[in-house]
Amino acid sequence: MDRAEAADRLLKVFKLERERGCRDDAVRSVGGLRDLVSRWSALLPALEPLFLDYRELDPAGRCQRLEQAELLLAGELPSAPAPSSLSSELSAELFSTGRTALRKLRELGLRSCHQLLYLEPRRYEDRRPTPNLADLPDGSRATVAGVVRSALRRRSQTGKTLFLANLALDSGRALPLVWFQQSWPVRQVLPGRRLLATGRLQRRGRQLQLFPDYFEIEEGASASQNFGRIVPVYSLPEGVSQVFIRRCIQEVLRRPLADPLPQATALGLPALHAALSEVHLPSDQAVLEKAQRRLRFDDYLYLELRSLLAAGGHDPPGTPFQITPEECALVTAALPFQLTGAQRRALGEIVRDMRRPVQMARLLQGDVGSGKTAVAASAAALAARQGYQAALMVPTEVLARQHLSTLQALLAELGIRTGLLMGATGPRERQALLAELAAGRIDLLVGTHALLEPDVQFARLGLVIIDEEHRFGVRQRRQLIRGRPDVLVMTATPIPRSLALTVYGDLDLSVIDELPPGRTPVRTRVIRPEHRAQADAFLVRQLQAGHQAYVVAPLVEESEHDLMADLQAVTSLTQELGRRLPGIRILPLHGKMSSAEKAEAIWNFAQRGADVLVSTTVIEVGIDVPNATVMVVEDAQRFGLAQLHQLRGRVGRGAAASYCVLVDSEGSRRSRERLGVLERYQDGFKIAEEDLRLRGPGELKGLRQSGLAELTLEQLAGDEDLIAAAKGLAEQLLRASPDLSAFPELQGELRRRVEESGLRDLI
Ligand code: ADP
Ligand code: MG
Repeated sequence: MDRAEAADRLLKVFKLERERGCRDDAVRSVGGLRDLVSRWSALLPALEPLFLDYRELDPAGRCQRLEQAELLLAGELPSAPAPSSLSSELSAELFSTGRTALRKLRELGLRSCHQLLYLEPRRYEDRRPTPNLADLPDGSRATVAGVVRSALRRRSQTGKTLFLANLALDSGRALPLVWFQQSWPVRQVLPGRRLLATGRLQRRGRQLQLFPDYFEIEEGASASQNFGRIVPVYSLPEGVSQVFIRRCIQEVLRRPLADPLPQATALGLPALHAALSEVHLPSDQAVLEKAQRRLRFDDYLYLELRSLLAAGGHDPPGTPFQITPEECALVTAALPFQLTGAQRRALGEIVRDMRRPVQMARLLQGDVGSGKTAVAASAAALAARQGYQAALMVPTEVLARQHLSTLQALLAELGIRTGLLMGATGPRERQALLAELAAGRIDLLVGTHALLEPDVQFARLGLVIIDEEHRFGVRQRRQLIRGRPDVLVMTATPIPRSLALTVYGDLDLSVIDELPPGRTPVRTRVIRPEHRAQADAFLVRQLQAGHQAYVVAPLVEESEHDLMADLQAVTSLTQELGRRLPGIRILPLHGKMSSAEKAEAIWNFAQRGADVLVSTTVIEVGIDVPNATVMVVEDAQRFGLAQLHQLRGRVGRGAAASYCVLVDSEGSRRSRERLGVLERYQDGFKIAEEDLRLRGPGELKGLRQSGLAELTLEQLAGDEDLIAAAKGLAEQLLRASPDLSAFPELQGELRRRVEESGLRDLI
């Protein structure tokens, strides 16, 4: 008998034993489970210690032992023949185009099966024929299938080449397809051929036309990886085609794949191979969702394992600040306002940590505008007054400049010496600054990731504050906190307490759940473009009253990293506003500007150098201009609700009443309902919940982007059950094998994930 067989038999015995209520009578003839297991100890030695005292345990205790033993055995069961392991290197024989494919993948930095298979779709495109074409609004995307009736080439009045094809749709209706300036459809789109096309639909009254940006001739019965189905879209550099990556992934998936976590299937989740296959080539939406759940389950499980293993260690020493209540009172009295109760509570928790001799690792969470900066500033001032230095790291130069001026205002009275360090800091200035810093003549250094350069040496760094932490990677943080200062991380992402451990590992949590007094809620209205004139009139009245406004340009699809598109969107909106609002001073802010130019523009705006700031979502994070009272978002239906909430958080920062106008250019029932959430709620957490509720199964999304760093609140809130299950399994696994050595594949995968970052690992 081999190990697998032995394992299989024992599992049957365990099952029987459980069914009989764990009374140690499943194998009475051989003297109980202890004796049975010890007979097989040569084959399965890890099991024996679990059963030495089995007879003496009560049924509950026995049941737990059986559970542990079953987990150990699950690893012994035979899996598919000769599976490839996630960690194995990619090799030429996996691919139909052999070395060529391998070379291309290497250029992309993809070396192992793991890296290729976990290249996750950024989003999905539903390329199944779109139902009810006739009801779609102008400009929608649609996919159609049908037979080409006629095709011809033409010159338009402006001299452009047009290629026109008439398609008889499967539904019976005829639809013209139009290509501009493209010669290659001519060779393929021939009468009698069946084709699938996807593109933008144009509607003129009842007339429809489609401008395809993708089409494919249906040849034979071979199922296409690229058409007529839900198709994954990856983030790829220019010159690498989606089709190539899809094919390579499918070729690797043709082999069986070892699952480091076979126990997940017992929880009703698909096996890893099935899940990855589905994620890369979905068969339908419901199955895809299950597959994504499996991958998220793994994420949660590895996170739990990581934090449970870390919790076993002891707390590292930190800086023991001697902060008295009088000191605290003195510092907070220097602020230009009284702290709210929630701010005071959070500061109290931070101070308590700072006083302890172990290193602080605390997360300060509060909605936009809740006043996290004031709390952080107080902590920094307290550290400085003890003779220590503090560092504040923020994600962008714009924010760095702004935080510096806020902090200077807050701390002026206390004589705190501040400095600003960014990528844009000139070499001479930088050198002087670093000298001051090393000599201990700067108390608080504010900056971007420029703080992480190795030559940035503090004399006595005692406190590190990291704002909007999700934008920094693990390794980056390590660099800054190498001298073991106390660490405070600030975030506006509302994470329920029950989930915080999973996301933030063993960080302690402080929450600011109250807004500063005198804030009137931002009055929010969703309008259709037809009512723009009234909205403009309202805007002008606000500006005439001395206030300022933001206008956010529509999100340009596919342009997350496309600065040209960003520039165009901002420029055309600026011109349009200039026409509509003559005499108003408009300042554009766009992605093509350097960070110094952006900061300059915002500074200029804050000094009332313009009435309206036009921008894309660059202004989403942290900009604080209290005199701005109106936020207008164009094509608001294209934004996520959380993002709109962040944008709205830019106004309502002063005493004056503030307004948010969301222009819904779609006007569907769905867009009205979604945007309506912002009219009704001010609370970020509530909005996230509603968003989740409204996300029907109709929405396909590239769920996980590039791993854990991108876990979003929506997923977390919807995954509470999954997280609880992961937690439970992680605990069981560690009970069965405290260092995981009984599960080598799992251990390897955990190590790989920790090393390849992605896992939050603050300290
Ligand atoms: P957050 O960083 O949490 O988004 P900020 O710290 O930028 O919020 O605070 C938002 C605004 O509220 C700032 O203009 C700040 O000066 C002001 N503020 C903060 N705390 C108070 C308070 N206790 N009383 C009055 N105003 C406050
Ligand atoms: Mg902030």
